[in-house]
Amino acid sequence: MDVTPDALTETLRRLVAEGAAGNVTVPHKENMARLCDRLTPVAERVGAVNTFWLDESTLVGDNTDVGGFAAACNSPVAPGGRVALFGAGGAAAAVLAATAEWPGVDVRVWNRGAERARVLAGRFSARAVATVEEALDGSSLVVNATSIGLDGVSQPIDVARLPQGADVIDLVYGPNETAWVRAARAAGHRAIDGLPMLIEQGALAFERWFGMPPDRDAMWRAAAPDRNRFTRPLGGLGGSIE
Ligand code: NAP
Repeated sequence: MDVTPDALTETLRRLVAEGAAGNVTVPHKENMARLCDRLTPVAERVGAVNTFWLDESTLVGDNTDVGGFAAACNSPVAPGGRVALFGAGGAAAAVLAATAEWPGVDVRVWNRGAERARVLAGRFSARAVATVEEALDGSSLVVNATSIGLDGVSQPIDVARLPQGADVIDLVYGPNETAWVRAARAAGHRAIDGLPMLIEQGALAFERWFGMPPDRDAMWRAAAPDRNRFTRPLGGLGGSIE
């Protein structure tokens, strides 16, 4: 459903009357958190809801972007490691909620709007930094959680600036991955776009709605018929990505 912000409350009222459940996306995630009767602890932490359902007559909101990101990573960065995170919007909040569970990992947040980065990092005991270089310094995982790349050509940073051997996750996704992911892989980095996270957050939402896991292979075939799930996106940081 294509819902404008001013129609969200009324649309949700109708959906609740029908006993519906669903996913919500940009720009509704923060407003959904305000409209739900109850939030899961993770949705509370992120301050945004992407998955909702009815428990009796209680509208429950969850955030499966967090688990979706963690699943896309496959394994955490090792203790003592560093993560560079670009962006300070809802997607960056989900990444911070996921990486906050990784013991002893130092996450540095850089955003175009520095104040937004400072406020977000403060909520997750991460560190906001003033320059891209500071964020990248010593990082073994670099995450793009900005919307740069949605146009199919822009890249958040030149891949020549990536630390040697760093893994790359671009939360942006498209039919042919993103220009940044293709460039990073060509430069020898392991890199995935946002599709694994998208599919995994959807799979987790399915579990909330139906109480059982979905057929992930069917989801992959539907979302990306020309991609091989096992050789490409979920090879895993810590596993092998071709
Ligand atoms: P958002 O809340 O609107 O945040 C957008 C972020 O991008 C902000 O940090 C913003 O910086 C930055 N930005 C936008 N244009 C920029 C530019 N030209 N230069 C530098 N920074 C720029 O959006 P969001 O919900 O966090 O989503 C961000 C991206 O993640 C989107 O592309 C979305 O598709 C993707 N995403 C993917 C998944 C997935 O499952 N793969 C899930 C959620 C989101 P300022 O604060 O300075 O404006």
